[in-house]
Amino acid sequence: MNQEQWTVVDKYITDLFIPPDPVLDATIQSTIDANMPLINVAPNQGKLLHVLALMKGARKILEIGTLAGYSTIWLARALPVDGKLITLEADAKHAAVARDNIARAGLTDKVEVRLGAALDTLPQLEAEGQALFDLVFIDADKVNTTEYFEWALKFTRRGSLIITDNVVRKGAVIDANSTDVNVQGVRRFNAALAAEPRVTATVIQTVGSKGYDGLAIALVNSNF
Ligand code: SAM
Repeated sequence: MNQEQWTVVDKYITDLFIPPDPVLDATIQSTIDANMPLINVAPNQGKLLHVLALMKGARKILEIGTLAGYSTIWLARALPVDGKLITLEADAKHAAVARDNIARAGLTDKVEVRLGAALDTLPQLEAEGQALFDLVFIDADKVNTTEYFEWALKFTRRGSLIITDNVVRKGAVIDANSTDVNVQGVRRFNAALAAEPRVTATVIQTVGSKGYDGLAIALVNSNF
């Protein structure tokens, strides 16, 4: 198995399950046009987020790490008419591109893109009483993933889902001596997740057009 095979199989899956979608396609194109990194979730991963949000019946979603709004659109499309999604983004250009894409998707009424480092904007959300959220998707810088998870626990309730991307890092996650801060960041997060009594959680390895990585899924099982 190699990247080429993962990519063609991802294309096979996408061709079957994800019909051409002008809004999502334009979102990817905007990422390229703006010279932003193509580090959005793959189409089938976006649909997985959508399915999980539908399964949860999510009415309120928090996303940490917006980029151009690709995963945001997948998640927001699962919301009911009066649903709300807040997405946090540190980079002003990314936030501006995402706002345009969210407008094109007709989701401006449901989605708020909040600009700023998440460790600054999360306390703002708390002060404003924005919680509770039914689903939190963590997909920003990996160094602070554990802190984002702690905020997610504060902002959720029994039955909420907390999903975290990029927690395997091409397998480098098993290297306790790694000097890569992203690897150390996700190692710290995985350990905290595994030790957290308030969630039932697991990590699955993922391969596909975006390479080899992993996704953590946690169900909040206790009110606190
Ligand atoms: N979730 C997006 C998707 O799948 O379409 C991809 C998000 S991308 C992997 C990570 C994003 O997090 C980037 O846009 C980056 O600018 C943003 N980011 C990085 N550090 C951040 C921070 N401290 N606070 C908020 N956003 C941050």
